[in-house]
Amino acid sequence: MNSDSVILPGQTIGIFGGGQLGRMLAMVARRTGYRVHVYSSEVESPASHFANQVTVGDYDDQNAFREFVANIDVLTLEFENVSSSALDQVPAHVPVRPGKNVLYITQNRSREKAFLREHSIPCPEFALIGSLDELKRSLSTFSLPAVLKTSDGGYDGKGQFKIEDAGQADEAWAAIDGQPATLECFVDLLCEVSVIIGRDVMGNSALYGPIENRHANHILDVSFVPSRVSEAVSKQAIEIAKQIADRLELIGLICVEFFVTTNGDVLVNEIAPRPHNSGHLTIEAFATSQFEQQLRCICGLPVGDANLIRPAAMTNLLGDCWGSGTPYWQAIALQAETHLHLYDKQEPRIGRKMGHITSTARNAEEAVARATTAREQLCRSQESV
Ligand code: AMP
Repeated sequence: MNSDSVILPGQTIGIFGGGQLGRMLAMVARRTGYRVHVYSSEVESPASHFANQVTVGDYDDQNAFREFVANIDVLTLEFENVSSSALDQVPAHVPVRPGKNVLYITQNRSREKAFLREHSIPCPEFALIGSLDELKRSLSTFSLPAVLKTSDGGYDGKGQFKIEDAGQADEAWAAIDGQPATLECFVDLLCEVSVIIGRDVMGNSALYGPIENRHANHILDVSFVPSRVSEAVSKQAIEIAKQIADRLELIGLICVEFFVTTNGDVLVNEIAPRPHNSGHLTIEAFATSQFEQQLRCICGLPVGDANLIRPAAMTNLLGDCWGSGTPYWQAIALQAETHLHLYDKQEPRIGRKMGHITSTARNAEEAVARATTAREQLCRSQESV
């Protein structure tokens, strides 16, 4: 490893995006002695509280972005929708990690699917859709149900429409505002898992998982490790994640989300070019957290130890938990092996990720019970106890 290219404490990590993922990266970076410069559209963003410097600008504000990249030593992100024209303004001596190519592919569902197909990486059967006519044509040959997903900007189930019958083409096309999309076969899920992978400048990688994920209302609800999938499924998911990181020539950290089908197939759902909600449990459960791993990889350091220390489960705390008053914080304070993380967001809206809880235990089942019980107790209002 060329020590000249290593980014060291005292140098500045540029984080594009000011949300909770940026906040948890900033916390590790500050602890480790780095300076942090955050670019965010909000003044009081979750990450801003751990930043040395904040540039506030819209995500397409070229002037603000130029000022931001002039004052950093490496650029990484916690929010993938950074435009290629913005990235063109990054000075040549500032590495962008993950690289421009990784962002170009993963920020658009159609390009991501084409990448998977090009490398023969298994994913649900799909067709790229550019018009209503194309949608109708594809539906006439497609096995139903299927799901139509916008190529740009969808997350947590937004920008998606499930099609049960070919006669729903007009309705589906209108529901996604006639945007370019992918049509995907709806698969029978046994479960969903994710693998997080950090890859360093030498091409060595460290893998976490598979982490098993349960969703509620399209939002991640509970994640736990070890997952219940078979050894064969686990091996396959890890191999695919490694293959993706190698093909992308990744320097940095990504998350690969998988569908495990009732037939035992392991199919890639999507790739996030950043730390992931399902990886929050790595903070307590693994030797190196996903955020520390991201920091190590983007700074040119060798990957850190990604061994599991203790089974764990994470539950998200959504704004809904504030519905009947202030959460009952004492409930958490009384629990052993249960850790509260709050993101310093002022407005607890329904469905908004306000924080999470991670519990560790002797096994995953106990950890899930601990974390979900803690959340139930917490989400009773002060008044009702
Ligand atoms: P996505 O935004 O693509 O991750 O989709 C959100 C959630 O919808 C996934 O986590 C799945 O639970 C479900 N889903 C999406 N696509 C499919 C599919 N092709 N087959 C089965 N379930 C799906």
